[in-house]
Amino acid sequence: MIYLDNAATTRTRPEVVEAMLPFFTEYYGNPSSVYDFATPAKQALAQARDMVAKSLGARADEIYFTGGGSESDNWAIRETAEAYRAKGNHIITTKIEHHAVLHTCEYLEKHGFAVTYLDVDENGTVRPEDLEQAIRPETILISVMFANNEIGTIEPVREIGRIAKKHGILFHTDAVQAYGHVPIDVEECRIDMLSASGHKFNGPKGVGFLYIRTGVKLRALIHGGAQERRRRAGTENVPGIVGLGKAAQIAMETMERRAEYESGLRDYLIEQVMRRVPYTRLNGHRTDRLPNNVNFAFQFLEGESLLILLDGKGICASSGSACTSGSLDPSHVLLAIGLPEEVAHGSLRLTLSEENTKEEMDYVAGQIAAIAARLRSMSPLYEEYVRGAERSGRKYEEGQI
Ligand SMILES: *Cc1c(COP(=O)(O)O)cnc(C)c1O
Repeated sequence: MIYLDNAATTRTRPEVVEAMLPFFTEYYGNPSSVYDFATPAKQALAQARDMVAKSLGARADEIYFTGGGSESDNWAIRETAEAYRAKGNHIITTKIEHHAVLHTCEYLEKHGFAVTYLDVDENGTVRPEDLEQAIRPETILISVMFANNEIGTIEPVREIGRIAKKHGILFHTDAVQAYGHVPIDVEECRIDMLSASGHKFNGPKGVGFLYIRTGVKLRALIHGGAQERRRRAGTENVPGIVGLGKAAQIAMETMERRAEYESGLRDYLIEQVMRRVPYTRLNGHRTDRLPNNVNFAFQFLEGESLLILLDGKGICASSGSACTSGSLDPSHVLLAIGLPEEVAHGSLRLTLSEENTKEEMDYVAGQIAAIAARLRSMSPLYEEYVRGAERSGRKYEEGQI
């Protein structure tokens, strides 16, 4: 099996699992309890919080553990909207956000808020000048993702943070794909809130965090006990948080060499596929891109068929075209970067990890080329197009679509 779907989830590192285990069976005390037996759990929580804070240039009391990326996004957006309602009712986000952000914004629209969804350019990059133009006196929140989960484009977060700060507007970023993969400093980028999720950086599933800058008014999403400084009730997921802390530590220690290795593989795979498969486009920014993200659009191909045939060859990938809801709508991200609907249907996302090898990339590129040729040979549209191109003397150029 060749696993190339690390944007969907990653393998929990064995060291992470090892760090978690004692907190199930040995140190299972509730961190809120007063007796000494609960001390290891309490200390482990504090240690994980310190680790995460350090990784962002934040303070430990600005880190709140949650049940994952979706919860962090929901919390940040919904509860700041409510808390700042007296100041205004306008929110700015983008058309390429994760559904955890988009659907929360749509929910708020039904409850009296106005939301601007910014366009992006053909690389999936938000234009800072568009953002500045969208700001109104009643704007209270800007939410722009750090890096896109489908096409890997890294957004100009520092510039966006500067604009938000200049206008006195809160800035939230969904950094679920970026955290642990690219360096992030909340001071440098003037980020007020940041969402991340353990299972996207080799930690466990169902645990994440929200960074909340001191001074930001953010009401509790979950009401109950006094955990997480009274802002996120419920007995802490101690093993999960310990695992997240360990994963964060390893991610920070290994980031530089991992990014170098993964981006090398990424560029090799891009080159191999673009060379072997005509009428292919690389989606997303060529260089301002997550080290492990590859996303192609193949003209005259159906992403779903490609995925199924790749699965038959032991390759786990993902298509931008299938929505989790079971509808066959093309990806909102690919439409936002201007792909025609039929091309957006022929997309393929491959997200690598440090466990992948160059030999695997050769195999994958070979399989993609073979499958693409086979599927296209059955496509009357393709045949017609190629014959038409031959008749008119048009020459194919690499990357043309
Ligand atoms: C995976 C993902 C989420 C959701 O995180 P969960 O922990 O699965 O809830 C949110 N935003 C982005 C960009 C993601 O990639």
